[in-house]
Formats: sequence, structure tokens, C-alpha cells
Amino acid sequence: MALLADGASALFIDGKLTEGNAGTFPTVNPATEEVLGVAADADAEDMNRAIDAARRAFDDTDWSRNTELRVRCVRQLRDALQQHIEELRDLTIAEVGAPRMLTSIAQLEGPVNDLAFAADTAESYSWQQDLGEAAPMGIPTRRTVVREAVGVVGAITPWNFPHQINLAKLGPALAAGNTVVLKPAPDTPWCAAVLGEIIAEHTDIPPGVVNIVTSSDHSVGALLAKDPRVDMVSFTGSTTTGRSVMSDAAATIKKVFLELGGKSAFLVLDDADLGGAVGVAAFSVCMHAGQGCAITTRLVVPRARYDEAVAIAAATMSGIKPGDPNDSGTICGPLISARQRDRVQGYLDLAVSEGGSFACGGGRPADRDVGFFIEPTVIAGLDNTARPAREEIFGPVLTVIAHDGDDDAVRIANDSAYGLSGTVFGADPDRAAKVASRLRVGTVNVNGGVWYSADMPFGGYKQSGNGREMGLAGFEEYLETKAIATAAN
Ligand code: NAD
Repeated sequence: MALLADGASALFIDGKLTEGNAGTFPTVNPATEEVLGVAADADAEDMNRAIDAARRAFDDTDWSRNTELRVRCVRQLRDALQQHIEELRDLTIAEVGAPRMLTSIAQLEGPVNDLAFAADTAESYSWQQDLGEAAPMGIPTRRTVVREAVGVVGAITPWNFPHQINLAKLGPALAAGNTVVLKPAPDTPWCAAVLGEIIAEHTDIPPGVVNIVTSSDHSVGALLAKDPRVDMVSFTGSTTTGRSVMSDAAATIKKVFLELGGKSAFLVLDDADLGGAVGVAAFSVCMHAGQGCAITTRLVVPRARYDEAVAIAAATMSGIKPGDPNDSGTICGPLISARQRDRVQGYLDLAVSEGGSFACGGGRPADRDVGFFIEPTVIAGLDNTARPAREEIFGPVLTVIAHDGDDDAVRIANDSAYGLSGTVFGADPDRAAKVASRLRVGTVNVNGGVWYSADMPFGGYKQSGNGREMGLAGFEEYLETKAIATAAN
């Protein structure tokens, strides 16, 4: 069966592919601005039906207690996605504007393969722990601690790495025994909707266990945070929206798991190979046009070598041309939408009005009048108090900031409302590791190490969120803890 056969995607509710009450909305190729097709547009009543289905599947079936079934289903989902991988690759390049080369890693194949980690974890997990007998308050008691699913999970996701984020929520949530309502971003509805087609066709996942509700209306997603039938919200997106989700969830005291924005720092110590370090920083900020929450967008370099660092960054980034994401050599594709491109342009204008200058880039590429492209841009001349150095830009934009030694570099890195990620480069590995240990962030790269993998937890400190996705910690986010005390006579 070909996916999205008639150029339209459906909602997936209670095991059935259905139309949306609000009709359809278009999904657009950000590299060409062409409409790819339409997605079903859900309204509040559709969301109500999806939550109801998820609630019934959790309360009235043995899904949450049947680990063997769940492990089998998650493996079936992985296998079916792998069978459709080339169709999914084309879809991801077209709908997300994701460079082809990234689809063999975090944009597609990585998260599909990582479903195996969720299944394996559930299969080998110690669901019950026997704490033995004791006599608290003089009463002989046998004590057991049980881990079990939280219940109905509302998953709300962004557009920048849709498969990674949809699957890093679905895999562990399902393997842990929850039922899920997934509400993807309106910019990438098809990347989520195809999961409904694949689940319906290729897996034994029972009706109601997974529901996928695409909508052009953000307030439909907000219902997941408000609804008392939803036990947990797992949200990835901007800090502003995360705050709203947390506040909506407060009325029902539901568990809230947030993966939010970032403004991560790349620290180059004074003993580092400056050319090598700056080259890495400059290259990585161009990947997927800088649309990654954990990308290090503040390059913090020794003051004495500031001009040299700016020149190296500019030489690297001016050589990276925004291009067709279909080409295997492209690393910097388009931004997702005109709205995001204009938002990034707004930050570039702000950089100039705050006294900064561009060592390269600064606007739309002259050779591309179609597509939502922005030139890789190096901002120089600002310190860490400027708004472009403090706020998330979400484009291929690197701000270079001077430091006066290790303590100052750490101070600058931590002088941020965010705390998602960080990088330290230095010739002395012990010194670099010591600096890295002082960063208030959830993931750190020292001299080029890679923290992204299925068994490593990912998440943020401070306003970058709470909780962890992936790894054992990511699985356990979707579990409750029950203490059972049985009188031992
Ligand atoms: P966004 O916050 O605008 O939207 C994210 C999702 O929330 C979308 O599905 C949207 O429809 C929905 N939404 C919007 N308003 C809502 C509301 N009031 N209640 C409930 N849901 C609502 O984010 P975006 O622009 O789609 O994505 C970019 C942001 O995501 C960036 O800030 C980026 O840093 C962040 N992000 C974080 C991580 C991470 O793991 N920390 C990963 C990827 C992206």
C-alpha cells in the first residue's frame, strides 16, 4: 500500500482513519512553496473522541498489563516503518525541508531504529521490586513497589524533527503501557498521519491505543492539557507554549513533561585548536538551517582571538549555500515557513540595531527567491546581554561572543534562561571536562563527543524543560510508582 495515496491524510481515532470535522488544511513544501496536499483538520469534537478512545483503551483492555503484546506491537511498528523507509524519506524531505543526508540519522532512520530500545527496555524491565518484610509502626508488613503506566498520554510535538520527536514519545509511552493521543504541529501533519496508516495496516496495536489528531488550530492541542481524562502531557516545542501547557495542566494536576527551547553555548578554551573548534561550531549551526533545539548558537571564544574566530566562522558559513534538501550534498535547507523565515529576519535586523554586524550572511540568499531560505549568518560585535544572544532564533545564525578565561566562559554559558545543551573544546581533556561539569545543561559535548543515542537521556535544565526523553529515564517518565503494603501475619 502506498502512503497518502490520494494526496490527503486522515485522522486516526479509535483504530479508524477518519475525516476531520473542520475539513482539511494544506501542507506545504518549504523549499518550493508548493502545496503537497491536504491533511484532515480536527476540531474540538474530534479531539474529544480521540481522548475518549484512548481512555477506554486504557481502562477497558489489558494493554497496560500485557507487556508481551506491547513489545510485539512496538517491534511491528518499527519493522513496518523500515519497510516504508524510502517513501518516508521522500515525504520528510518534501514536508519538513530536511536535508536528505539527515534522514539517515536523526530525521528518520535513527528514531525508527530506536523504537527497538523502547521494546527491549519494556521486555527486560523490573516492573516489580520486593522490599521484603519490615514492621513499620510495629505492624509486620510485606512491601512491594510496582511500576505501571501513567494512563492516557497527550503528546504535542513540533515540526523541526517530527519523526524523532513523535517516535521518542510514542515508543516509550506505548512500551510502558500507556495509550496516546498525538497532536503534531500543523506544519508537518503528514509525518504524523502516516503513522496512523501504518499502524492500521501493519500492527496489532488495538483500537484507541494510538490516536493521531492533526489540526490547523493550536487550541485543539491545548485541550489535551486541560482535559481531566488525560493523565499526562508530553510536550516538545517552544518555552512560551510549554508555559501555557503547564498552566493549562495545573487545573487537573496532571503530570507535565516538557522539552523546550535552547540557546546553547559552544565554549572554545584558550588552549584549543581554534580553527578546528570554530569550524565545527559553524558547520553544526547550518545543519537543517539551524532548526534544532540543542544547536550551539552562541560561540564563546577567547577575547584575544575574537577577530580570528569570527573570520574562520564566516569563511566556513559563507561556503555553505542554502540548497535543495533533495540534493545529497545539502546540509542547510529551507526554514519551515514564511513565518519562521520572517521571524529569523527580525532577529537579524535586531542584531544590527543593537550594534552588531554580519561577518557573513544577514538575509535571504540572492539566488533563491522561492522557498523559505536564509543565508548562514555570523553575528559579531555583540555581548551576551544582547537579545540575539539571549533569545532562541531557530535559524542558521551564530553569534560570536568574547570570553576572558574559563570562569568567564562558564559564566556566559550559564547566563541564560535556557539550559538545554553545551559544548566545550580544549586541548587538555581534564580541563575541558572540568569546564563542562560546571555547565547547567542537560547534555554536554566535550571535544566532539556525541550525546544523541537511544540509551542516552535528553532534556533541559531551567526553562529548557523538565524530565528526560530517550534512555531509561525517558522510559520511566511514562511510569507511575505504586507502593503496596500487605499485612504479613
Ligand atoms: P510551538 O511551541 O509553536 O508548537 C509546538 C506544538 O505545540 C505544535 O504542535 C503546536 O500546534 C502546539 N501548540 C501551540 N500552542 C499550543 C497551546 N496553547 N497548547 C497546546 N499546544 C499548543 O513550537 P514549534 O514552533 O512547533 O517548534 C519549535 C520550538 O520547539 C523551538 O522553540 C524549539 O527549541 C523547540 N524544540 C524543543 C526540543 C527539545 O527537545 N527541547 C526539540 C525540538 C524543538
